[in-house]
Amino acid sequence: MEYDDLKPTVWANNPDSRLFLCWRLVLITGRIHSIESMGLVDGPGIRSVVFLQGCSLRCAYCHNPDTWAMEDPSNEELTAAELVKRLVRFKPYYGRKGGVTFSGGEPLMQPEFLTEALKECKNAGLNTCLDTAGAGFSDSYPEILKYTDLVLYDVKHYDSEMYKKITGRDMDETLRFLEEVQKQDIPLWIRHVVVPGLTFGKEHFEGLINYLKRIKNIEKIELLPYHTLGVMKYERLNISYRLKGVEPVRPEDLEEIISNSR
Ligand code: SF4
Repeated sequence: MEYDDLKPTVWANNPDSRLFLCWRLVLITGRIHSIESMGLVDGPGIRSVVFLQGCSLRCAYCHNPDTWAMEDPSNEELTAAELVKRLVRFKPYYGRKGGVTFSGGEPLMQPEFLTEALKECKNAGLNTCLDTAGAGFSDSYPEILKYTDLVLYDVKHYDSEMYKKITGRDMDETLRFLEEVQKQDIPLWIRHVVVPGLTFGKEHFEGLINYLKRIKNIEKIELLPYHTLGVMKYERLNISYRLKGVEPVRPEDLEEIISNSR
């Protein structure tokens, strides 16, 4: 039986059809925090970066606490097809290397939408990156990763106690995600935020390097210096900031630590 927009009454009187109508009306939509159209740092080449709403971690240094709640009145709600239609307009700018990066928040927190959006991107011939801490708490990782070309994997810490201290959550979930990435042989760019007192110093970096040696397919390691640009957001949202008084990391200090750890 085919759907006929002109005969809504007939459809509404048939129980099977009512289900079908509901399915059409309840298309999965994503809660989009924001979209950056010309990103240069979240994956290779020029990229559109889609920031999805929602994160279950509470990283001490997070500069985007406005993405934590699973929904926010400022969100735009789009279906995967609507989103990708918008992203495809920038295809000429992406060139050979660029494409689309899904970030957050934690993009894995909207697994059904993310899967659909990645699938639509691949159907449109777009390169896909996932910028994630691997904390989606769902069974959708295998399906999501099927349509992911590169994972930008945020390593919070290599030690489980420190991981919990930084994020407020156990490390098992991110390890479960990483296991699936490794199983599917997906290339990784590692990201690690360097924070005084948490993830800083020669000893820490030696531990990090030893941990990363056990992970295959790493193409790049990015060390990101801690900054305080997000502190104003905490004040606005009336959330207490855990790293009050911690100074930002100067690029020259980072350089020194890296060269001492080689
Ligand atoms: S995973 Fe990212 S968005 Fe979530 S709390 Fe940590 S830094 Fe913030």
